[in-house]
Amino acid sequence: MIDGRAAAARLRARLRDLVMEFGPTQDLAPGLAVVQVGDNPASSVYVRGKARATVEVGMKSMEHKLPEDVSESALLALIRRLNDDPAVHGFLVQLPLPARIRPQAVVDAIDPAKDVDGFHPLNVGRLVSGGEGLVPCTPQGCLMLIRDSLDRLAGQEAVVLGRSNIVGKPMAALLLREDCTVTTIHTKSRDLAQHCRRADILVVAAGRAGLVRGDWIKPGAVVIDVGMNRGVDADGKPLLLGDVDFDEAMDVAGAITPVPGGVGPMTIACLLRNTMIAYCRQRGLPAPEI
Ligand code: NAD
Repeated sequence: MIDGRAAAARLRARLRDLVMEFGPTQDLAPGLAVVQVGDNPASSVYVRGKARATVEVGMKSMEHKLPEDVSESALLALIRRLNDDPAVHGFLVQLPLPARIRPQAVVDAIDPAKDVDGFHPLNVGRLVSGGEGLVPCTPQGCLMLIRDSLDRLAGQEAVVLGRSNIVGKPMAALLLREDCTVTTIHTKSRDLAQHCRRADILVVAAGRAGLVRGDWIKPGAVVIDVGMNRGVDADGKPLLLGDVDFDEAMDVAGAITPVPGGVGPMTIACLLRNTMIAYCRQRGLPAPEI
């Protein structure tokens, strides 16, 4: 069982040490701002979690709450202010946004150097072409968990189930950068199970509870379950379910992330990691080893 909570705690501890190390010589702590539009309850939970984790590692957390009916131009004006604010080293706009607001216009307006979600086209391009950008947090967290479980990634067969811009595509690009042989599969792929059975590394990000069965998994494979699906248990109590049938997969996989307690905690820790990287680059400090 891959313990994502423990891995995330180790990463946060390392970041806290770095913040302390920079403390005596730097006048500004690394600053992370989060913009939330409206009151989506799931978004509020994420935003609170991000703020708490930011403060815990000694970084400065800034929250900007805008009303549900805010105009796109007012949101873009706030983004320009954050781009220009030297106390803000990284920021993100929490998704989803109200339908009136074009998410791509919002992402395009963010200074790529402060784009700690890694969604700006320049950062996407750098990920694919090999430059130094900021990498999306969830796939970066998955890669760190895979590296903890496997000595050598080069040459491994990696299968990514899902091709979203925030998980599947950047995950495939990261694994390719690690010299894996990468296959991306999706809703139009033929025979998902057959592809999965070839995988030494299987990353599943479909958003379909229990889609991947035990007999889809190669014995000994590293299985990373990104899925977060809300369900209920036999007593009607709320439950978070992964995309992999965990009980079946446990008997076959060499290493597997549980849901919850796997990828989720790494996502926020990697957001703080990106903030630290952005801070060091903006302040001309050497790239931290994290
Ligand atoms: P998405 O809906 O944008 O993309 C899902 C992808 O999976 C699509 O490319 C689709 O083609 C593919 N897919 C869906 N159903 C499929 C099926 N039956 N067969 C084959 N392919 C299928 O979702 P997303 O944003 O990439 O998120 C995926 C899951 O990961 C969701 O459950 C989401 O909640 C979760 N997630 C978790 C974290 C985390 O921090 N743990 C972060 C982001 C997303």
